[in-house]
Amino acid sequence: MLSTTRTIDQRLLRRRCLACGYDGALLRNGLAPRCARCGCDLGRRPARSYVEMEGIEGIAHPRSRQRDPNVEVQLVHRWVAFMFLVMFGLVIVIYLSAAAFSV
Ligand SMILES: [Zn+2]
Repeated sequence: MLSTTRTIDQRLLRRRCLACGYDGALLRNGLAPRCARCGCDLGRRPARSYVEMEGIEGIAHPRSRQRDPNVEVQLVHRWVAFMFLVMFGLVIVIYLSAAAFSV
């Protein structure tokens, strides 16, 4: 844990954005959803301190993202609904085309 590590240089313990190196107050020690400077998604690429990056401390990020199993089910449902609507629209277009050419 970062809180148990003792060092003279506190910069080693401060989490920073891995994309731009920002470690200001707006980063909220890695708890912010995005980097205030570059907009990097900190959920996908969590902010880390030098101590964590060098492996001196284990990475125990407080906001570690766990995948919700319902998200994939919802994506499949949305995809099936989209394909249903596309097929329904295609049937309507074909039906109207056939009706227009039969006259
Ligand atoms: Zn950044």
